[in-house]
Amino acid sequence: MAAQIINGKIISDQIKEEIKTSVEIDFLPQNIRPGLAAILIGDDPSSHIYVESKRKACEFVGFHSEVFRFSKDFKEIELIKLIEKLNRDDKFHGILVQQPLPHHVDQEKINLSIDPAKDVDGFHPVNFGKLLAGEETFIPCTPAGILELLRRYEISTSGKHAVILGRSNIVGKPIASLLMQKSSEANATVTVCHSATENIKMHTIQADILIAAIGRPHFVTAEMVNENCTVIDVGINRVSEPTLKNKYRLVGDVKFDEVSTKVKAITPVPGGVGPMTIAMLLKNTLIAATNFYNINQNA
Ligand code: NAP
Repeated sequence: MAAQIINGKIISDQIKEEIKTSVEIDFLPQNIRPGLAAILIGDDPSSHIYVESKRKACEFVGFHSEVFRFSKDFKEIELIKLIEKLNRDDKFHGILVQQPLPHHVDQEKINLSIDPAKDVDGFHPVNFGKLLAGEETFIPCTPAGILELLRRYEISTSGKHAVILGRSNIVGKPIASLLMQKSSEANATVTVCHSATENIKMHTIQADILIAAIGRPHFVTAEMVNENCTVIDVGINRVSEPTLKNKYRLVGDVKFDEVSTKVKAITPVPGGVGPMTIAMLLKNTLIAATNFYNINQNA
């Protein structure tokens, strides 16, 4: 039987509408609005597309937003100075520095320089530590998007076995930590696999919830999953497709065509986790602005 399609586009549109309403009710009547500063360094085409999508999404919900663009040789010290200035600027309640950064810029130093109260990507060690401890904090946007999809599709993780492929700081580690929290909204038993894991199929076949975040096109095949599994495909991979105008198409880490005929539910790529990541960035910025102005939030 065909799997239920978990539609991230529909859910992210709902969330954006909710945020827009909150801006109209809670902010605009007081002549204030949430603000997001995005910093983009270098000429990576995907990063330019992501930042433009984030800017447009800000515009849609009524946020103030500015994009600060620099060439790939922009100095680390200049970047830190800019972040410190944005930390003090009350127009901006969220600051994001688009990844990947050029090699001469130390990601850890950049994460540390952002005020934790404006760290809407959730990468500052203070926020990362709070996440591990199960305290309220900014949850990195992609893991937050995965949790929101599961919640809105009423897919419970409590008592379930979640298998996560990938242990990056932006996806694998935070989602593993969030799913294992002692709370009725989480409560999963979590297995994390990575490039040194032997016999990955032995783990994936047991998964009630499988989250693939490794950046390997079509890695997960039908023989690696069971019929009751919910599959969340985080991967965004460009594969060449000479017949297309762009000469490539986007695919996930999961072989969607065959896996979707076997499992219970699945996210597509594109249109699954991707749009949710942007929606949760907006949500985190709304929370940051709500905290800043001490507003009772409606969204
Ligand atoms: P990353 O930092 O490159 O981490 C990849 C992880 O996958 C690492 O832990 C790596 O293991 C593991 N891995 C790589 N090859 C593997 C293999 N053959 N078997 C098992 N594990 C393997 O990647 P990321 O930033 O987490 O992103 C992962 C994917 O998600 C990418 O396609 C990225 O574009 C996509 N992504 C999508 C969104 C979205 O909004 N949808 C957001 C973020 C990322 P080691 O630790 O051992 O190296």
